[in-house]
Amino acid sequence: MVKKVLFAASEVYPFAKTGGLADVAHALPRALKNLYDVTVVMPLYSSIDRDKYAIASLGESFTVSMGREEYPIDLYGCTVEGYEYCFVYSPILCDREFLYGTPEEGYEDNGVRFALFSYAITALLHKNRYDIVHLNDWQCALLALLIHKDPMLSPKVIYTIHNLAYQGVFDSTLLESIGIDREYFTMGSLEFYGKVNFMKAGIAYAHEITTVSPTYAKEIMTPAFGCGLEGFLHFHRAKLRGIINGIDVDHFSPTTDSALVAPYSDTKGKKPNKSDLIKRLGLKGITKPLFVFIGRFTSQKGIDLLIETLPKIAVLECNIALIGEGEASYHEALKSLASHHKNIHLTFGYDESLSHQMYAAADFLLMPSLFEPCGLNQMIAFSYGVIPIVHRVGGLTDTVKRVETYQEDSCSGYGLIFSSPTSRSFFSAIKKGCELYGDKKHFERILNHNMRCDFSWGESAIAYGALYEKEKEIYE
Ligand code: ADP
Repeated sequence: MVKKVLFAASEVYPFAKTGGLADVAHALPRALKNLYDVTVVMPLYSSIDRDKYAIASLGESFTVSMGREEYPIDLYGCTVEGYEYCFVYSPILCDREFLYGTPEEGYEDNGVRFALFSYAITALLHKNRYDIVHLNDWQCALLALLIHKDPMLSPKVIYTIHNLAYQGVFDSTLLESIGIDREYFTMGSLEFYGKVNFMKAGIAYAHEITTVSPTYAKEIMTPAFGCGLEGFLHFHRAKLRGIINGIDVDHFSPTTDSALVAPYSDTKGKKPNKSDLIKRLGLKGITKPLFVFIGRFTSQKGIDLLIETLPKIAVLECNIALIGEGEASYHEALKSLASHHKNIHLTFGYDESLSHQMYAAADFLLMPSLFEPCGLNQMIAFSYGVIPIVHRVGGLTDTVKRVETYQEDSCSGYGLIFSSPTSRSFFSAIKKGCELYGDKKHFERILNHNMRCDFSWGESAIAYGALYEKEKEIYE
């Protein structure tokens, strides 16, 4: 019999997306579809088109009592392109402008909001038998504890860490408001330097823990990348492994991408896309290399390094286009740079179509991340014939090979790599990029090679399947 999987995430493309988690929660369940009966569950945020998606009430309306409060919950189901989704609606969880808060600050009641999300899912688990529950990031982590302490529930629990920097840490008074007994406020459970840490629940009570690349799995057990959880993760290392993310090759395909003025299948086809974008952004010089940055303006993504290096890049014969949103101080610094350099174009905000057009037009993608659990941009870049320039860290180490070691018969993507996060080494990689760009034949050979490589979910979905099939083990 086909096993039933409940895949829980706080954001899923195309319904709600702030980053790579949404891409993964969209693509991985689809890649598992032929092997498992997968339902994806997420909150029904106000930004979701409710008239379109929340049409089939599952007939489930109930209240969850947490602490002294009662919270109303409605569950909705829908099928999109043959895939099953379940939406959890409760005003406190869903009726907000942002998913989690502003880039500077999460909502104060995020602990209550996402504890409620976990409680609501337990109701689903009581109603239907699921063999496997796959939880993602801190927003769903408490569910691992709720399952652990409920004798009526016995699914296998997989917990995936997409970014250890966001752990869901709250004041210890939260415990009472979410109805969790103080017996769980210990170092081996939820306690974290006197506060409550949701991610610890996922780590402590899941049967298997994954993170999104093998290198990040090792890095997070060190003080430099462990964000205070390195010891706890090391303690649970027997159940921790890294499985590299893939990309949805249907969504990120330059041959069929409807956002592009001219879909293409090799580097020659990039030209009309580049001239269209350059013109629209008010930049000049189609023959000059175009560098792009697409991502959140946060310190993780190396924005300080980017801001420090941009004036040096801008004096090269090139164009630069940036899109993202994030902290106000970064917005100000970038705005000031763009106002001083005519060849820098800056877009604030999140724009899926424009990001696709930027991948199609670009020659180089800048990714100076200080840490990078996996990173999807570099794989999207490969598929669109763009050379990524990356800091050697986390998943970037696992997915990008040095162009200097290019071999025609390899199935790896090649890019420019710098090893220390300094403006000097970043800029030196950029200059190497300009030299490579000058050697047109070799440049295009590498781009065409990268475009033919496979960055789909195929192998990684098989690895998750193997984990789903593994006997439940008690690691200690
Ligand atoms: P993150 O750490 O933000 O999750 P990932 O590399 O895992 O980073 O995934 C980022 C995803 O979000 C990619 O699909 C990227 O193209 C997309 N993205 C990031 N910022 C923007 C933006 N401002 N507009 C459009 N797409 C964006």
